[in-house]
Amino acid sequence: AERLTEAVRETDSGARVGGDDFAVLIEDVASVEELRARAADLREALSTPVVVDGVSIAVELRVGTALTPADSPGTLLAAAERALDAELDKAAAAVAPRGLHTDDPADVAELRQAIAAGQLRMHLQPVMSLGDGTMAGAEALVRWQHPERGLLMPAAFIGLAEQSGLIADLGEWVLRRACAQAAAWEKAGSPIGVGVNLSPRQLVGAGVIDLVREVLRTTGVSPGRLILEVTESAVMDDPQAPDVLRALHDMGVRLALDDFGTGYSSLTYLKRVPVDALKIDRSFVSGLGRDRDDEAIVASIVSLARSIGKIVVAEGVETREQLAVLRALGVDQAQGFLWSPALTPALLEIWLAEHVPLPAVVVPRLAPLPPLPVALGEGERRILQLNAEGASLHTIAAALNAEGRRTAAGPRWTTTTVARVIAALSR
Ligand code: C2E
Ligand code: CA
Ligand code: CA
Repeated sequence: AERLTEAVRETDSGARVGGDDFAVLIEDVASVEELRARAADLREALSTPVVVDGVSIAVELRVGTALTPADSPGTLLAAAERALDAELDKAAAAVAPRGLHTDDPADVAELRQAIAAGQLRMHLQPVMSLGDGTMAGAEALVRWQHPERGLLMPAAFIGLAEQSGLIADLGEWVLRRACAQAAAWEKAGSPIGVGVNLSPRQLVGAGVIDLVREVLRTTGVSPGRLILEVTESAVMDDPQAPDVLRALHDMGVRLALDDFGTGYSSLTYLKRVPVDALKIDRSFVSGLGRDRDDEAIVASIVSLARSIGKIVVAEGVETREQLAVLRALGVDQAQGFLWSPALTPALLEIWLAEHVPLPAVVVPRLAPLPPLPVALGEGERRILQLNAEGASLHTIAAALNAEGRRTAAGPRWTTTTVARVIAALSR
């Protein structure tokens, strides 16, 4: 934030709009080129690592830009946010993620060879039913057993697979493997279903429909045992995606919206896609028990899901406290390290045999927030409008504050009050 403040000129304004999101308003640009140049200056300001306690941390700034005329500050912010999301998608596809455990990006020829040579592995993470504590299903997560580098996580090779088109072969392999597993469970009389991640590239064109039909037939698994997971943004970005999903759904396959809450979760759009489940992104789960915003967001997702007849699955559950809050909020299913990471199918069988349901824990609930008016005021109407336009909670709150809309719940709009209004109005 300090570096950004320094890089922003006196005539501009900068603000943190939430999390690691910042907004910069530049008032005197003459052209798109100039705007891009200013964005490049900001990136430059953050390009040297930040040293914290003697540890050097690389920071990267991604910028989405939008130019007026826009009919309101909210619309302008929403346009900038969409541009930013497009940047992030591009970045994710172009570079192998650089985490702390950086792996050298693998190369395409090596990955192609690995798929052919049977070096892919399917691990399974249990998905638990919060009602009775039993295992409802398992999510198939791909790994690459690399002969020299050991077991590689998807972050090291999925981007490459997507860029090169190898994702089609990789995805087909995982689908066959997962359906074979689901068929074995079905034959053994166990009710467990299997979740398979589909990449956005796999949703383009009708190929996936024929593939799924053929794999269901050859493995003999009931369609309802297969849950295909697609991300919100994948569905939003591809105009054909809703048709492809409808065809899959008509076959009896179940569908889940992955990483839910990180994309554009507007009500209008949710009605267009025939999904059965919303998977709440890990980022909203991590703060449960200590962050009211996260709790309000999860509560609003649950109430939204209820109103349109979908089930809610929470990802990345690591603590008893998070579990207790999820139960209290009425979330249906959850997965996370609290139960188990993804395991080989053989280890999962052992885990399942030894697993004892977690006892319920009582955690002190956060003090309830003051009630909100149900009346549709100006502010509420504006929230619904921006939500329908696909703006995030952060953007909506920032827009309402910028427009000077009054709030009944406090001095300023926050993501929490916005989420609660959306939740109240969608009940
Ligand atoms: P995802 O679909 O969101 O999968 C969940 C990720 O969260 C998995 O990471 C899982 O290991 C991790 N996780 C589960 N529980 C916890 C927890 O309690 N705490 C934390 N911190 N993490 C948890 P993984 O296996 O590294 O997979 C990463 C991503 O790679 C997946 O995200 C998915 O988008 C992609 N992916 C994995 N397998 C496939 C595949 O077969 N096809 C495609 N297209 N994508 C895949
Ligand atoms: Ca997933
Ligand atoms: Ca996810």
